[in-house]
Amino acid sequence: MSIHTDVVIIGAGPTGLFQVFELGLLDIHAHVVDTLPQTGGQCSELYPDKPIYDIPAIPVCNAQELVDRLMEQIKPFNAQFHLGQMVTALQQLDNGRFTLETSAGTKFDTGCVVLAAGLGAFQPRRLRVQGAEAFEHSHIHYRITDPERVRDKRILILGGGDSALDWTLALHGKASHITLIHRRDEYRAAPATVRKMKELATGDYLQEFQGQVRGVFDIDGKFGGIEVDDSEGNRQRIAADEAYVFYGLTPNLGPIADWGLDLEKRQIQVDTEKFQTSVRGIFAVGDINNYPGKKKLILSGFHEAALAAFAIQAHLHPEQKVRLQYTTTSPIMHRRLGVEG
Ligand code: FAD
Repeated sequence: MSIHTDVVIIGAGPTGLFQVFELGLLDIHAHVVDTLPQTGGQCSELYPDKPIYDIPAIPVCNAQELVDRLMEQIKPFNAQFHLGQMVTALQQLDNGRFTLETSAGTKFDTGCVVLAAGLGAFQPRRLRVQGAEAFEHSHIHYRITDPERVRDKRILILGGGDSALDWTLALHGKASHITLIHRRDEYRAAPATVRKMKELATGDYLQEFQGQVRGVFDIDGKFGGIEVDDSEGNRQRIAADEAYVFYGLTPNLGPIADWGLDLEKRQIQVDTEKFQTSVRGIFAVGDINNYPGKKKLILSGFHEAALAAFAIQAHLHPEQKVRLQYTTTSPIMHRRLGVEG
């Protein structure tokens, strides 16, 4: 059974979320699909605690707060989210509509598609060493959803960026012991975080280890820990109950590259009136698109989403006149927003 809808937005980053809002103002309901288990795209996944200073009228807010505010703003429009699934297939039907299918088997029959897919679908860089595959997701993890899970366990944290260091500090005191494994003594995290980690690493609960990860070892078939070549090239075994790998995420354009859209350097070419792609009815907004003068900023994505919404309304209802109305004064907008005028 397909979900029959007007619009499917691929990507729940800031642009996809604001697209819900702009469509909602025009009384167009949307479904939103994202590979990540949460909304917010790069903001939530890559830099949730970092301050953003260039959102109009918000002098400063951290990236997660921006996402939270967007989620609040789009509430009246009841968009349906399909998270943790990647859109894997898109086909145009003879009647001009589109069918989409996700990795979880969700199917859509939609009038329009909005690609708000950023740099592509985020996937964690895997630990590709001997023996790792057998323990993926049972003992080797790429994200932490419940910090309590590590309580009183010996854990390994692999990586040298913000996520690895932030989690090292956050889990210090919860895990019985943490070994932070990084290939060199220099970290790519905020200097204050690195300083704090170094202070704590002199104690009994946290140890730094520099070396190249070479494999995963088991003890009688059960996860045993990780094998690392130390700076002198000697192979060491570091025993642990679980390992958390923070080698970063790689965005992957993935299936979008095969949908016959006009692409240049892995970016989708659009016009700057409708933000429509080379296929009528498929629009692209935010970091995924390109046009002369494009700047990959959240602000640009918001502007593009507003114009795309008007174009989508015209595409879905060519017989209707598209009228610009102010949210300040329009009773229709107030009704859609669920506010008193
Ligand atoms: P994204 O945020 O990339 O979201 C796209 C979403 O689409 C992702 O969640 C992805 O999983 C999903 N997706 C892709 N393909 C599929 C698929 N096939 N199926 C399902 N889901 C899919 N910008 C500013 O304006 N100001 C700043 O101060 C600023 N600071 C930044 C700091 C850092 C460290 C970084 C990395 C970026 C910063 N940016 C900043 C850039 C800003 O984050 C991006 O411009 C913005 O996130 C783009 O939003 P988006 O919604 O277009 O794409």
